[in-house]
Parts: sequence; structure tokens; C-alpha cells
Amino acid sequence: MITLKPLSGCVAHYDPNALPVEAAQEIVRQWALPLAQDGRVERVSLFDALDRVLAEDVISPIDVPAFDNSAMDGYAFSGAALASARETVELNVAGVAFAGQPFTAQPTDGQCVRIMTGALMPPGCDTVIQQELVTREGDSIRFAAAAVRSGQNRRLSGEDLARGKPALRAGRIVRASDLGLLASLGIAEVAVKKRVVVAFFSTGDELRSVGEPLTPGSLYDSNRYTLFAMLRRLGVETVDLGIVRDDRASLESALRRATEAADVVISSGGVSVGDADFTRELMNSLGDVAFWKIAMRPGRPLAFGRLWSGERAGAGKPALFFGLPGNPVAVMATFYFIVREALLAMSGATQQTLTTIRARSDEPLKKRSGRTEFQRGIATRDDAGLWRVVTTGPQGSGVLSSMSEANCFIVLEHDRADVDAGDEVNIVPFDGLI
Ligand code: AMP
Ligand code: MG
Repeated sequence: MITLKPLSGCVAHYDPNALPVEAAQEIVRQWALPLAQDGRVERVSLFDALDRVLAEDVISPIDVPAFDNSAMDGYAFSGAALASARETVELNVAGVAFAGQPFTAQPTDGQCVRIMTGALMPPGCDTVIQQELVTREGDSIRFAAAAVRSGQNRRLSGEDLARGKPALRAGRIVRASDLGLLASLGIAEVAVKKRVVVAFFSTGDELRSVGEPLTPGSLYDSNRYTLFAMLRRLGVETVDLGIVRDDRASLESALRRATEAADVVISSGGVSVGDADFTRELMNSLGDVAFWKIAMRPGRPLAFGRLWSGERAGAGKPALFFGLPGNPVAVMATFYFIVREALLAMSGATQQTLTTIRARSDEPLKKRSGRTEFQRGIATRDDAGLWRVVTTGPQGSGVLSSMSEANCFIVLEHDRADVDAGDEVNIVPFDGLI
């Protein structure tokens, strides 16, 4: 007998056979807490810090830029010259300042210094007139006094990052700009949080691994590859436990091994009704079940709970468990909308909101109220700059090519019914820039 042992009071308000996506996300949020970092923090070099989560605030050890410098190629001078000038300013060029080759003498009144972008501002100079605005004859220049304001075209020391101030906060996922920023501070190593370890496997007697011949009725296991890729992109550590047969003993041993090895266990297949489904039963004996059905499509059968590596619930080491559906598209939709946030939270990253864009649907969409649907869309911008979207065609949850063809999910909210052509919908693009 399968019984529901709710992990949280939240689930009690809903039909566990049709939990709204938002409610499921809220329950997962309550359980997916940042991993304790005791002894888990690592120090890594910059190149290895990419996509890792900072364990500590990074305090800037220097001012960036470290000195006042020119933002333009032009001529540096004291802005006081502007106040005393009439319409035209005339100055004599006393020398040249290059980036990395400063001009160290102080120009006298009536003098300026030819200066290149990034060069140290010469002593007594606080203003730069860009070269295009100047007429040069021999060693003297002329320009309109109104062409520049005192203090203009100078980058101030510390204007990018001030010494002693936090440059990046703990919980930040280190991206391309952050690596450059850390390097600009002269920092060679940073403290990062230990990665979340995720063990994953596929279930199904019909599954074959790539490299094996297909027999009648069998198919290749694609979910493990999709999962591997999605997990790697999130920066977690992966443990691949392969294909597990549809029998209680195999599944139980896989779940135990996975729970022992990982912080999170993800399986695909074997959670739907009618299948040789031991997953839910096992979850009840190895741990607690929070829910096993979500009002979403694709992805309705989805088990979430906590497993223990010991002989019974509460014994040994715990791991969160996501029993994803077997259908390949459902695996991806449930991963991105249910699992992703949990893994990021456990990794200690600050919240990473998915980008949602309003788009006009160029076709009518069939949608049943009472569940959230994630259809595969192809979004484009029209000549007026507006986003428009169409589906990839048939939306079967086994059609993995629809994911490859699509560039976004079309998210149709729980209460929404059919969409007319021309109606606005929310889309979540697959690609982020950085
Ligand atoms: P299940 O949830 O186990 O009933 O699986 C639902 C459907 O997804 C079935 O048609 C399975 O053959 C298919 N499926 C399950 N696991 C995989 C997998 N790892 N790779 C590709 N298809 C799968
Ligand atoms: Mg199966």
C-alpha cells in the first residue's frame, strides 16, 4: 500500500495527484537548502573558478583603476585653463603620456600634454580634450572652450572598484565578466563552495546503452545524456549510475548506492502508473515522499522526496530524490522547472531567476485549464522588434527533436485555457548570454 507521508504542510492543501507547479516548486524550495559548507570550501585558481559559487565575499585589495587616467586619446591639461579662457583655448604641448609610459613633469600654465587612452594623468592635469576637437599647429593646439568641461574624459582612481569594498558577493556564480574582474584585482585564487553531487540513472527494461544493438521493442537510453548535459551546465558534480532494470531489488540497490554517493538522486522513468513501478513504494520504505504527481505537461508523474542510505528512513545519510518521468521531453521540462532551482539553492548560489519574455502567439494553442503546460516554441523578433512565437508542431512528450528544434519554452499558466492566435504568452528562452 502506498501512503502519502507529507514532508510539508503545504502539500496538505492540494490534491497530491494534481499539485500545481507553483506549489511543487514551493515544497522543493523548502527542502532544497544550501549544503553545509563545513570543511567543504575549496580554493581554486581563476580558470577553475568559472561557473563555481563564491564561498566568501571578494574584497577589492586595490582601487581599479589604480590611478586617474585618460578616457580618450587627446590632450590633458588643468581645467582651470577653461575658466580664464575666452572663446578659444590655446595651449603648448609639453610632452606625451602613453599607457604604461607616464609623463611625470607638471605642465606649467598654458601647457598641455598629448595623452593616450589609459595613460596616467600627468601631475596638475584633471581634464582631457579629445583629439578630434583640437586644431594642432606644430607644438600648439587650439580648441573651443565650450567643447569640454573641467574634469571631463578622466577616469578616476577607484571608480570601477574601490579598495576595501566588496567586489563580488558570496553566492555569486562566477561568469566570464567576473573572471576578468577578479583578474583586474590581481586575485589569483578564490574560495568556492563544494559542488553539489548528483547521482543519476535511467530505469527501464526496454533501454539499451549506445554501442549495444537494438532488439525488437528496445530503444536507446537518451535521458542519461540529456541529464548529464543539463547537470554539467549547472556546475554540479555528476555520478552516472547507468541503466537500472525494472525490478525491485535492482532499483533498491541503485537508490541506496546513489543516496550513499550523492546529495541529490535523479532517476528517469518508472514513476508512472501501470508501469512496473516500484519507485514510489521504495521511496516510502527508504524515506519520505512529498509528492508524485504534478499538474504539468509534460511531466505529470514526478516523485519528490528524501531518501536515507541506512536500513530505514532517518538512518544513515539523506539525499533529496527526484523521480522524473521517462519521456525525454518531460525529463527536460521537469529538470528546468522543478529540479534546477533546487540544485542551485543547494549549491549556495544566490537566486537565479529564469528570463521570461512576453511574446505574441502566431497560432492558436490547445491548452487545458488546471495544469501548467510547457510547449516547445520557436521565437523570433519581427520587424517592429516584437517577439512572436510558434510551436515546433506535435507536442508529444517523447518527441525529443522538438527540444532541439525549439529555442524556448512557451509557458501556459495553470488556469489558462486555449490560446487564440494573436494572444500574448510567456516564453522562457533556452539560451542566456553570459
Ligand atoms: P516510463 O515513465 O518508465 O513509463 O517511461 C515513459 C516513456 O519514456 C516510455 O516510452 C519509455 O520507453 C521512455 N523512456 C523511459 N526512459 C527513457 C530513457 N532513459 N531514454 C529514452 N526514453 C525513455
Ligand atoms: Mg519505464
